[in-house]
Amino acid sequence: MNTARDFIKKLNLNGLDGFIVSSPSNLFYLTQFSNPDAFALVSSYGLTYFTDPRYAQSCKEKFKGLFSVKIISGTLFSSIAKACLESGLKRVGFEERHLPYAEYKKIKEYLKGKTLLVPTYAVIEGLREVKGPKEIIKIKKALEITASAVGFIKDFIRPGIKEIEVAAELERFIRYQGAKSSAFDIIVGSGSNSAYPHHFPTSKKLVDNSNLLIDLGVEYLGYKSDLTRVFFLGKINRLYRRIYALVAKAQDIAIKKIRPGVRAGVIDAASRKYIESKGYGKNFVHCLGHGVGLDIHEMPNISGKSQEILKEGMVFTVEPGIYLPGKFGVRIEDMVLVTKRGCEVLSGAINK
Ligand code: ZN
Ligand code: ZN
Repeated sequence: MNTARDFIKKLNLNGLDGFIVSSPSNLFYLTQFSNPDAFALVSSYGLTYFTDPRYAQSCKEKFKGLFSVKIISGTLFSSIAKACLESGLKRVGFEERHLPYAEYKKIKEYLKGKTLLVPTYAVIEGLREVKGPKEIIKIKKALEITASAVGFIKDFIRPGIKEIEVAAELERFIRYQGAKSSAFDIIVGSGSNSAYPHHFPTSKKLVDNSNLLIDLGVEYLGYKSDLTRVFFLGKINRLYRRIYALVAKAQDIAIKKIRPGVRAGVIDAASRKYIESKGYGKNFVHCLGHGVGLDIHEMPNISGKSQEILKEGMVFTVEPGIYLPGKFGVRIEDMVLVTKRGCEVLSGAINK
């Protein structure tokens, strides 16, 4: 696998001769196989995959000739340590955000001081930031399903329907369309509930002359989508119209600044400055966006503090919002792909 080979090359750069992968998303990235109960040891000898007998058959089929697979019925940790010692590895990296302390302690104990475990931060995540053509196809497919879900729900929503019914219908619909599931708990907030950026759907009923915010993502072959659309039932009032226009403009300003070489913080600042200039700075309570791929929130982080430099092939959200507690909230969220000279709004065709 190319990704695994690329990663092996990276190890030396980090002063390591081995690396224990324990994050399911990172493991999927290297092996193209989804398994929540697996580890991999990567070194110049290749990738050794450790899992338990439940996955024996599927691993055998999937990894034929690609990786060495060790099926462990007892503890995985002694087997990982044994493999490190047998290969004579001296400095083995582990993912500090993904290896629980208890598991780290066990592996360390089995290594008996002969191999050093070195904490690392976001090594594989860094590789995942720039998407390859095959990954982009999957993200686009996830967005296609999201788009049809938005079209479907537009005809479904009417006064009297509950927020939880909207969420349930969306979940059912996307699964029928081939998505594995939603990428996160679907957010459906009506009226004042939409002022909570991450509202959890309740049995509140939609009413006439009020708004509805839906934040939806799906998972398709491991890859995620993330999209927010707002709807209005009945006659749109002036304040809502004004806030919607501000958020749409703030998003547009940000999107126009996206291109390779720009610092991510600049994109957030451009959007935020505009909202601040209109007097709603304190109502834009979150950062502008985040990378999306195998995880719903991944690198790059599009926040004011972010020092990351945008690169061609990055995929992230642009989602400014204004939340007026007790009244309503408006967020417009789209996904963009950084291109050679600017960006492509991947979800641009989805009804706004
Ligand atoms: Zn979202
Ligand atoms: Zn998002």
